[in-house]
Amino acid sequence: MAEIRIRNLQKRFADFTAVRDSSLVLEDGKFVVLLGPSGCGKTTTLRMIAGLEFPTAGSITLDGDDVTYLRPRERDIAMVFQLFALYPHMGVRDNLEFPLRNEGVPRADIDRRVQQVASILRIEHLLGSRVGGLAGGDRQRVALGRAIVREPKAFLMDEPLGTLDAEFRELMCVELRKLHERLKTTTVFVTHDQNEAMALADHIVVMNKGEILQADDPHGIYNFPSCVFVARFIGRPPMNLLEVRGELPDGAQCVQVDGRYVDVPAVRGSAARALLGARPEHVRLLPAGEGLGGRVERVEYFGSHWIAELHTDAGVLKAVVDKATRPAEGECVGVGFDTARLVLFDADSERLVPSVTTRAHQPSMRHG
Ligand code: ATP
Repeated sequence: MAEIRIRNLQKRFADFTAVRDSSLVLEDGKFVVLLGPSGCGKTTTLRMIAGLEFPTAGSITLDGDDVTYLRPRERDIAMVFQLFALYPHMGVRDNLEFPLRNEGVPRADIDRRVQQVASILRIEHLLGSRVGGLAGGDRQRVALGRAIVREPKAFLMDEPLGTLDAEFRELMCVELRKLHERLKTTTVFVTHDQNEAMALADHIVVMNKGEILQADDPHGIYNFPSCVFVARFIGRPPMNLLEVRGELPDGAQCVQVDGRYVDVPAVRGSAARALLGARPEHVRLLPAGEGLGGRVERVEYFGSHWIAELHTDAGVLKAVVDKATRPAEGECVGVGFDTARLVLFDADSERLVPSVTTRAHQPSMRHG
């Protein structure tokens, strides 16, 4: 078990800053996902926590001990690069024993720990088998077993599911989450896949251009994005953004969009220019003449629902519609919103403008 704290962490490669001034508390026993687009600094942050890279500035503590400049072996943290890199010529038991023999763990302890891990992962019956002949799911469990048999204080995982096809990925997400529920070992997991992040994380840390933009639980990240980048990066289709006409004064409870008034949760801040944010599932189709005026450009089928692309004078909007409300392409409709679910952003800083609903939400993770 371990609490990992990073303070004002910075990493420069020559004159390029890969990670800038990052501070974060990774709570003991939590599954934390670092999420962001390619090149945003996720792996570099993870490598600094692992000791594979030293920071240019800042510090890292593990359970209160400063480990900033300790080597990986001195940190008692297991870095899992590739969950599926097993030794195919060895048996299952040998694969599980290998990391322990490498560390010089006594024979009796090796037997106990291998047995325990095999029991947790339900692979006791495979201990005598060769890895080469195993089915995919069993192979994955053995690979996971090899990571957890070391009983490290924390797991660090860098896109461990990256090479799997979609079906195995989902299965492995379920396995990993179940395992975490059981072991409660602090885990830091890097991915650029938001579905993986949502499925696995207690806490998600969204990064872009070397900066931590938001750290919170999946609910907070999805419903109360701290800025336009997070609002657009999370959710498919992404959050709709519409330009608000005129200033946004403190206390406002409605805004003007395309000459119509739209009710919003009471604002607790102000902005010279603002953007109204609405998730596609919070856009409502109304009879033509009510709300914003719109025309249905396209309707796409997604199995359980449809996504309608609506063209309004304020911009293009995507709306989730069901069988009952599915409009026809070319139809003129009115567009409304679930007021309580709307958010506002300052169009200049691109930061969230607080409102009664966002203020009521307490982020579940500390950063900054
Ligand atoms: P990806 O998913 O593509 O790996 P990432 O978010 O993990 O993205 P990092 O690997 O942390 O990103 O890289 C962040 C930036 O730092 C990138 O622009 C990368 O090119 C640069 N970088 C990483 N390692 C080095 C290095 N050793 N020397 C120079 N630049 C580096």
